[in-house]
Amino acid sequence: MKKVTCRCDAVVEIDVPDIIDLDADPSGLARLADGDSPSAVCPRCGALVRAELPLRVKSATRGLDAVVLSDMERLSAYRGKADPSGSGEILLGYQELFERARILRDGFDPKAVEALKYVLQGKAEESEPEADVSVFYNGLKDGSLEFHILGLKSGQAGVVKLPRTSYDRIASDIGSAVSKEPYKTIFSGRYKSIKKLGFLSSASDAG
Ligand SMILES: [Zn+2]
Repeated sequence: MKKVTCRCDAVVEIDVPDIIDLDADPSGLARLADGDSPSAVCPRCGALVRAELPLRVKSATRGLDAVVLSDMERLSAYRGKADPSGSGEILLGYQELFERARILRDGFDPKAVEALKYVLQGKAEESEPEADVSVFYNGLKDGSLEFHILGLKSGQAGVVKLPRTSYDRIASDIGSAVSKEPYKTIFSGRYKSIKKLGFLSSASDAG
């Protein structure tokens, strides 16, 4: 049991394993994909309180070995300075953990999905250069891959569906694409995400 303080200041006990092993729990991946993580309901105010990060999540059968850090470590992860123990990949925040669970649940290669997100983010930034856009994989809908585009200012719904063939095309190329930019940078280090690209390019512009 780990003790977590709720927003209302009550102390809540949450049952959290040291390592969440998705291979040991047949429904574990599906629950994470639905946003259901170790948590408890606060006995005083009724709020859902999630376990504090970091958490370690593993699934040897699906090639997953991740440390989920809190969003407060985002900038150090972008700089390659976040170095939690172990050798696992870094995810930042529950949102990225849930997204990864949806990608694995649907049987996709996380790198190929990240490459699709790179293309979608580029298009969104082209139409709204001022917006701070982020793209998340939301799941398979009617055979298409559905993505949510957050941060658009135009009031667009921000939902994009790509056919399975777009995924297959990028997935068949991803093995050779990772040796070239931008994918080389995206997939280097322990935090493999398109989110660090904007930060790294503005940091190098600043010298
Ligand atoms: Zn509470």
